[in-house]
Amino acid sequence: RAKQLGKNNYQLYSMSKDITSYKKFVLEKDMRKAIENEEFEIYFQPQIETGTGIIKGAEALIRWHHADWGLVSPGEFIPLAEENHLVHKIGHWVIENVCRQLRSWKDQGFTLRPIAINVSPIQLMKKGLVDVVAKQLSHYDIPAKYLELEITEGTLLKSEKMVLNTLKDLRELGIKIALDDFGTGFSSLIYLKEFNPDIIKIDKAFIQSLNAENNREAAIISSVLHLAKGLDMKVIAEGVEEHSQLEFLKQNECGECQGYLFSKPVSRKTFEQMLVTGYLKPSKPKPHMPAKE
Ligand code: C2E
Ligand code: MG
Ligand code: MG
Ligand code: MG
Repeated sequence: RAKQLGKNNYQLYSMSKDITSYKKFVLEKDMRKAIENEEFEIYFQPQIETGTGIIKGAEALIRWHHADWGLVSPGEFIPLAEENHLVHKIGHWVIENVCRQLRSWKDQGFTLRPIAINVSPIQLMKKGLVDVVAKQLSHYDIPAKYLELEITEGTLLKSEKMVLNTLKDLRELGIKIALDDFGTGFSSLIYLKEFNPDIIKIDKAFIQSLNAENNREAAIISSVLHLAKGLDMKVIAEGVEEHSQLEFLKQNECGECQGYLFSKPVSRKTFEQMLVTGYLKPSKPKPHMPAKE
């Protein structure tokens, strides 16, 4: 009996392993045509001024509508794109589309807010990123202050001359750099000081472990906030889902936050509806009732 179960478990395991590698194979192959097929879409997650609910900006998050696999998360396909180097092409697509979107919002009369784009370390290691960004900004006639680039600590760890120079050139264009997922990597204060980002994004893992019984996370977050203030950096808290977390962030003067409590990442259309009033109220989605988007 035990033997039989063991065997079934093994079959299940090897089947799921097969599916995983099959899916990887298919995604890898289909990714090459996904731009031409218009399967990518950019979603926007509002970045909210903690004290007021005002929408200060948004993060652009890519989505892939795959014909057979449905919605594929960037957490799944970006690592593949980094391996096969399509991340450059996809990254350029995101940059161009965000610039075009900003132009369209400007033409429609919306007050522009900065949009943050995620860039992978691989993108920063290749020549030409600065030119692509500069070219798109000028083509759509958008001031550089409306673009932010989010990089992770891993990028800094590479600490290659190339990466540092690229970041320096981007900042000279007037683009702000945000340090994403702060606290999850081998973040050290040395990097903060040397690299001096404009914005620090505290990773959602910290925010989500914030609760009344957990004073240690609270201590870490308030120290990061204090440090950032001293270094004149802006802080955005990621993954805010609970009113209590928001309260803590308000009390500790964290300038901005992002999370399901205000909004999930939403389509362009939904984001435009939010821009009409320009602010959001915190509201916790009911359990078992997934938000519309
Ligand atoms: P990230 O840059 O740290 O983005 C935040 C992720 O947290 C997003 O996942 C977002 O949907 C999710 N999130 C936001 N608020 C909450 C919350 O309150 N609770 C929880 N549990 N999650 C929340 P998403 O969109 O699946 O993106 C995953 C990662 O994929 C991103 O992490 C980023 O590293 C990468 N990524 C997304 N778009 C792009 C892109 O255009 N280019 C590159 N290179 N990477 C991208
Ligand atoms: Mg912002
Ligand atoms: Mg990000
Ligand atoms: Mg993050």
